[in-house]
Amino acid sequence: MRASATTPFQAAPDSLDPTDWNAVRAMGHRMVDDMVDMLTGLREAPVWQPMPAEARQALRGGDLPTGPGDLDAVYREFQALVQPYGSGNIHPRFMGWVQGGGNPVGMLAELLAAATNPNLGGRDHAPIEVERQVIRWAAQMLGFPMDASGVLVTGASMANLIAVLVARAHALGTGVRRSGLHGRPLVAYTSLETHNCVARAMDMAGLGSDALRLIGLDAQHRMDMGALQAALAQDRAAGLQPFLVVGSAGTVDTGAVDDLTALAALARAQGLWFHVDAAYGALAMLSPAQRPLVQGLSEADSVAFDFHKWAQVPYDAGCVVVRDAALHAATFASQPAYLQRSVRGLAGNQPWPTDFGPDLSRGFRALKVWMTLKTYGTDKLGQVVAHNCSLAQQLARLVDAQPQLERLAPVTLNVVCFRVLAQGVDLDALNADIVADVQESGVAVPSTTRIRGVLAIRVALVNHRTRLTDVEMLLAAVLSTARERLASG
Ligand SMILES: *Cc1c(COP(=O)(O)O)cnc(C)c1O
Repeated sequence: MRASATTPFQAAPDSLDPTDWNAVRAMGHRMVDDMVDMLTGLREAPVWQPMPAEARQALRGGDLPTGPGDLDAVYREFQALVQPYGSGNIHPRFMGWVQGGGNPVGMLAELLAAATNPNLGGRDHAPIEVERQVIRWAAQMLGFPMDASGVLVTGASMANLIAVLVARAHALGTGVRRSGLHGRPLVAYTSLETHNCVARAMDMAGLGSDALRLIGLDAQHRMDMGALQAALAQDRAAGLQPFLVVGSAGTVDTGAVDDLTALAALARAQGLWFHVDAAYGALAMLSPAQRPLVQGLSEADSVAFDFHKWAQVPYDAGCVVVRDAALHAATFASQPAYLQRSVRGLAGNQPWPTDFGPDLSRGFRALKVWMTLKTYGTDKLGQVVAHNCSLAQQLARLVDAQPQLERLAPVTLNVVCFRVLAQGVDLDALNADIVADVQESGVAVPSTTRIRGVLAIRVALVNHRTRLTDVEMLLAAVLSTARERLASG
């Protein structure tokens, strides 16, 4: 029977399932229709709009709901209070931060994952095999051996933490898990432009963020190899123990890519673990035009990256891949009696995902990745990468052609940093105001960062929906806002 839209959702007396499943069917169909309408109308909607005070108040007020509510009214509340006030990363003119746009196949996969609701901590079931296949595909994409290990996590922040912990075990042996550090002076190296989550990983691993040396940049914003050599020599002379070098494949500030081949060689020569934060840059492996830029990624001991950025899988879906699977497992695995493994029955099929990271219970993230990769294919995702990078080059040319604009960094991948110039005003304040004005206009979302001390308008092109017209609209909005601001003093 076709569901009637008027059947209200009502829970059965003895469970959370409905008394009438047609109510669920009807509501599900309505939600899918509404989401498709939202996605097909994105370009006409504002990228972002501030939440009205009443909407914010409505979400902040209200006590813990103890009695039953009306699902239809709850959904209408979502439509009124939540849906219009998202951060806008699904929109083609969201260019502020390195965030993915999601995709409709991933959206449907989330429904299937929630309905089947498996727990991917471990045990012998097919969803675990789906995640293992995704990890093998990740290894293949990175040019890693097929027996590399890996696990899906929330994001690159967690993936980087896992890699730092494996590197710590590599340096000190897995006994460090019981004994702790006992003041052993491990130090790690990365560039000034590396994402802050690597410093946080050092902190959370008990090594301290002070033990992460931030090496200066060359003209391409890559880690300066000479400065790295000097820092290593200085630390060794001081009796410290260098153990890890973290390369960047695509920095958030400028999209710079370190010389990964040189870092790999240096790490090998000095007995250091070579990890790469390739949060979005890993996907450059899928584009023939960009692949040479991330050359050397395949030589890393471990790589952290996100499927939720350039691979456009809905949030959240991060991934870490480790060349030495045995060391990876030895860094995290432990087996209390209630997680005892067996060779047969549901408790078989090890190693389990929980052996490769801190999580035990884990959702079916793998399904949205698996379905996205199988449906679109990696050639198509590589084309998205190539297109974003070509838009960045076009934007850079448009910026360079405007005497009123100054570009602040070279464009390697998909990030363009520039600012508006004017006489006799505080340029940092002017450019920060322009960015906030453009965001509040709803036309486009750029963001700010600081490049060599000055405030930059940062445009990061990550969304698969972005077209040249969107980039042109952003630039026009920046210029007209600047004109208005300068005219009004
Ligand atoms: C986004 C990003 C991170 C952090 O990743 P999350 O998925 O947000 O945890 C780390 N490094 C780089 C280069 C990034 O772009």
